[in-house]
Amino acid sequence: MSEITAKPFDMNDIFNTLNLGVCVVNANGKVLLWNDWIAKHSHIKEADALNRPLDQVFPEPVSPAFLSALKNTLTYRLPVVLSTALHRTPLPLYNVFGTDQQPDRMYQSITITPIQSQLDESCCLIQVTDSSTSIKREKMLRSHSEILKKEATTDGLTDICNRRFFDAHYEMTVADAKRQKHPLSIFMVDIDFFKSYNDYYGHIAGDDVIKQVAAALKSQLSRATDIVARYGGEEFVLVMPHLPQEIACQFAEKLRSAVFNLAIPHIKSQPLKQVTISVGACTGIPENDDNLLNKADTALYQAKLKGRNQCISLPLCETEEYLEQ
Ligand code: GH3
Ligand code: MG
Ligand code: MG
Repeated sequence: MSEITAKPFDMNDIFNTLNLGVCVVNANGKVLLWNDWIAKHSHIKEADALNRPLDQVFPEPVSPAFLSALKNTLTYRLPVVLSTALHRTPLPLYNVFGTDQQPDRMYQSITITPIQSQLDESCCLIQVTDSSTSIKREKMLRSHSEILKKEATTDGLTDICNRRFFDAHYEMTVADAKRQKHPLSIFMVDIDFFKSYNDYYGHIAGDDVIKQVAAALKSQLSRATDIVARYGGEEFVLVMPHLPQEIACQFAEKLRSAVFNLAIPHIKSQPLKQVTISVGACTGIPENDDNLLNKADTALYQAKLKGRNQCISLPLCETEEYLEQ
């Protein structure tokens, strides 16, 4: 006959060495078991918790969701898992009790399981694990992905939309305008005599002008549907839906004067000796292969030919009126 050997471990030691909180409450909600982990993170000794109703053990309130889950498990004898996404810190448990550090309320993952005591009493086993690290990691990943998303669509120098964002936005906005048959305006903006600005003042000063011009253009926008993007080097593009041709023409002039009013000296720019822009605009309801962008570029070319520091606004459809400032 084989001999019954004594258990090689003290189960109490194991219970108190677990890296998770273990607590048992009876049908009246009174604490029957309280391991070292939960004592450490609640700062409540086992002796102060035993035989007291669980919700009165803690000096701070226990979340109502936890209490209702506990009540349901005791009543219906069904296990419950408290979702970490919905209930981050159901119990007042803390991660640090240092002297110089603020205690950090622990994010928890809790399961409540119905069990029977040896006296056949209905009880609940509550297991608590620390999910702080995984939740912090998840928050960090989310914020990284938001930063990456912003970086992928923003121009590094000017902090306005970049070319990649513009390309996608333009395609979408043209499709919308076609479908809903509403007018769309495109403004192409180019800094005048900018090569000579760089040659004379240097590339770093040139970069600063690009930033100032971008900010001046952006300051003219007030509707959530409007965007300004850096199209390339010293060229910008604005997309604005729902503007009648006349208003678009006035808006182009607002852009020109916003940059003019910056009064940035440019000794090599004739005859004004300050930084200016030329603006080419095109407005219309796009149909089929109409290309607003090409037409706005044509308008910009005309503004350059006319002497720069000018706005030319062309209708998309040839029958509409030609407007210039
Ligand atoms: P125009 O009036 O006909 O537009 O003359 P322009 O000299 O502005 O035109 P051009 O296209 O010949 O020159 C554009 C210059 O813009 C060339 C380049 O030196 C400068 N440039 C392009 N990108 C940047 C940039 O990111 N930073 C700086 N500082 N300069 C840039
Ligand atoms: Mg250019
Ligand atoms: Mg230029």
